[in-house]
Amino acid sequence: MSKRILVTGGAGFLGSHLCDVLIGAGHDVICLDNFFTGAKANVAHLLGHPRFELMRHDVTFPLYVEVDAIYNLACPASPVHYQHDPVQTTKTSVHGAINMLGLAKRLRARILQASTSEVYGDPEIHPQPESYWGRVNPIGPRSCYDEGKRCAETLFFDYHRQHGLDIKVMRIFNTYGPRMHPGDGRVVSNFIVQALKGEDITIYGDGQQTRSFCYVDDLITGMVALMETEKGFTGPVNIGNPGEFTMLALAEAVLRQVGGPSKLRFMPLPQDDPRQRQPDITLAAAKLGWAPRVPLDDGLARTIAYFRTRLGG
Ligand code: NAD
Ligand code: UDP
Ligand code: UDP
Repeated sequence: MSKRILVTGGAGFLGSHLCDVLIGAGHDVICLDNFFTGAKANVAHLLGHPRFELMRHDVTFPLYVEVDAIYNLACPASPVHYQHDPVQTTKTSVHGAINMLGLAKRLRARILQASTSEVYGDPEIHPQPESYWGRVNPIGPRSCYDEGKRCAETLFFDYHRQHGLDIKVMRIFNTYGPRMHPGDGRVVSNFIVQALKGEDITIYGDGQQTRSFCYVDDLITGMVALMETEKGFTGPVNIGNPGEFTMLALAEAVLRQVGGPSKLRFMPLPQDDPRQRQPDITLAAAKLGWAPRVPLDDGLARTIAYFRTRLGG
């Protein structure tokens, strides 16, 4: 059945892919964004579509629209962006969650929160199951993001318990793909852009820290599947690709495909940088029948093709 769906942060990397999938499934989509890290270009191909509406708005302010469901993705996601104005980052997660939950409460609409693996901080348990409470520094440079997202989860569960709201909480692990911001400082976009420009690849620390990288199409499939689970199932659910790589291995994989003269340049490790990160996706498999399909090399090839076009080379 066709629905009217609000996507906050809809002009961002993940949000724009979600808008594509929802429009493709026949829904009406309101794409809301303040364009802090998102761009009209990400949804330019949807402008003019009769079921698509683009709205400039900041989620830290109240919003009065009429919708059946809400995907709350508004929040800068890369450390460079979220540390640029850390107070605004916390406000976006916390005030944004309150406003979107207030909206969902008035409308009795289902609402999904884009939470993050960062709620696990620098984890002592590996891989991380949803039952793990995490190890987060409350006062460091990453805290505006990590604690903001943790507080948003708290608000979601309190609105659920206190007001019976129909919530879904998704913990997203590192995701990459076309429409990542080339200057957002995340590792996959950095390495690809550096390799394409023939610049040195910046490895922070010794490069032995690990991350698990999920291709965007897999992630969005999991997000929509979670939104469509039965009422009463709240999550949190980890969505990510358990394939775990060191940053050195990632650099090699990018250089294997791009070629060129780039060398590795070792730089200081940022404060509170987690050593390792891998999702336990047992719950997603059981509840959503979901598993990622796109292997790293295939996803990298599609992402490299995107950046090649975007950089005009
Ligand atoms: P992104 O920066 O591309 O997208 C975020 C979007 O939110 C942007 O379009 C930005 O302009 C918008 N935005 C920011 N503050 C806003 C505000 N106050 N009001 C309205 N819009 C605002 O990042 P992304 O990778 O697409 O991330 C989307 C969501 O997924 C975020 O909530 C992020 O925390 C979460 N997430 C992403 C990843 C990942 O690896 N990409 C991992 C974990 C969680
Ligand atoms: N809100 C909104 N749109 C709505 C309803 C509420 O933006 O349609 C915001 C409003 O700013 C409110 C917040 O959501 O302060 C929380 O709403 P709730 O009903 O939980 O609390 P209250 O209205 O009592 O503050
Ligand atoms: N990183 C790196 N070089 C870069 C950018 C990032 O070695 O140019 C490292 C970073 O220190 C971290 C990992 O790559 O260990 C992932 O960083 P990203 O910012 O993409 O995501 P997050 O730390 O939020 O998982």
